[in-house]
Amino acid sequence: MLAEIKGLNEECGVFGIWGHPNAAEITYYGLHSLQHRGQEGAGMVVTDGEILRGLKGEGLVTEVFTSDAMKDIKGKAAIGHVRYATAGGGGYENVQPLLFHSQSGSLALAHNGNLVNATALKHQLETQGSIFQTSSDTEVLAHLIKRSGFSLMKDRVKNALTMLKGAYAFLIMTETELMVALDPHGLRPLSIGRLGDAYVLASETCALDIVGAEFERDVLPGELVIIDDEGIRSEMYSYNTTKAMCTMEYVYFSRPDSNIHGVNVHTARKNLGKRLAMEAPIEADVVTGVPDSSISAAIGYAEASGIPYEMGLIKNRYVGRTFIQPSQSLREQGVKMKLSPVRGVVEGKRVIMVDDSIVRGTTSKRIVRMLKEAGATEVHVVISSPPIQNPCFYGIDTSTREELIASNHSVEEIRQLIEADSLTFLSVEGMVEAIGRQEEGETRGSCLACFTGKYPTEIYPESLQAFQKC
Ligand code: SF4
Repeated sequence: MLAEIKGLNEECGVFGIWGHPNAAEITYYGLHSLQHRGQEGAGMVVTDGEILRGLKGEGLVTEVFTSDAMKDIKGKAAIGHVRYATAGGGGYENVQPLLFHSQSGSLALAHNGNLVNATALKHQLETQGSIFQTSSDTEVLAHLIKRSGFSLMKDRVKNALTMLKGAYAFLIMTETELMVALDPHGLRPLSIGRLGDAYVLASETCALDIVGAEFERDVLPGELVIIDDEGIRSEMYSYNTTKAMCTMEYVYFSRPDSNIHGVNVHTARKNLGKRLAMEAPIEADVVTGVPDSSISAAIGYAEASGIPYEMGLIKNRYVGRTFIQPSQSLREQGVKMKLSPVRGVVEGKRVIMVDDSIVRGTTSKRIVRMLKEAGATEVHVVISSPPIQNPCFYGIDTSTREELIASNHSVEEIRQLIEADSLTFLSVEGMVEAIGRQEEGETRGSCLACFTGKYPTEIYPESLQAFQKC
């Protein structure tokens, strides 16, 4: 589904490299492959071993890192970030990596996730004299590191990390080392690769592939990885860990060519579609998927049901952020910017429309209407995840509970609202089994909180307020 029209938005993406003469250029390509995780801003900080230099801006990777701008940032190591910002949470100062200079040295931070106790920590730090430059939760970590009494940087970082609650994949760079940390539940993906003698870090393995790096391993929950010119070391800053990888990474966010904890995202989505066909057998003529993220599930549904897959909907790839969007009145006249039905495929047919999720329901209704206007005789909506009934506090903008249609409507009520002939969601057990993670236990090491309401961390009252994501 298209994030920007759905109300379910990606979080952020991070990329880092240590020990390569073209660190900045490689980071550019890595970030470009993670662009789907955030289109509001991009940045990178590079070190030559003596000075940290930053380059960042609002916009896409190609808009921020022009050839002219890239001329001035050379070095042997870099960290980078692509950002999605919630409404009101944007602005240049919040674009990452955040870069701090002090007499004892410089520090750059890139963060994917969301801290659930950031407001409480911020209040505490402000009463102790800290002045914040941004409204980002990420800045809290820099202040905690700076205030820690330990002399070694890695001990300061470990001490600071123990005070954070929530989801985080952090890249932390000084002039002489790169540190990588994952929260004790491992809510966000983060992988390590090798490119010759260099070490590469990325939110998704697709970024390792793009730059030609070999996947080595995933960062562990509660682990701090330290990379410098001497090599790579690993230390645990927390042993109180349980795996709770975000299930929506498989269902919707990540690129199909990425692997998360050994499970390929396209394969997981295809299996979700197959399982859906078992749980929701429907008599129909064609199966179609809402581009892009639902195509794999639609192929799986078609394969398992024996009903042919057809491209019943196409996405206009050239709708940029700056394109003049149609006004409400033009939209009502039928000006469709992002999706179009393929009349030749759906006319006179009973259509099964596979989508990955329903957030507010407005987009589903628009697509059902679009298919019917193009001549579909029936539109059966099948969703390759369970109803999203609870908000996410870990960096995914799933709206407030009030905006989530499934939190206050039954499946039948939603069916009526979106004007579908039938509506089926996948079961929670079906989703967990279909994704096929190899962990033990009922959740198989997955976070399912937006479906079940069982959050893997403590939830602070402040999490309910709109706080800066990423
Ligand atoms: S609550 Fe949902 S979207 Fe948020 S981390 Fe958990 S599974 Fe992912």
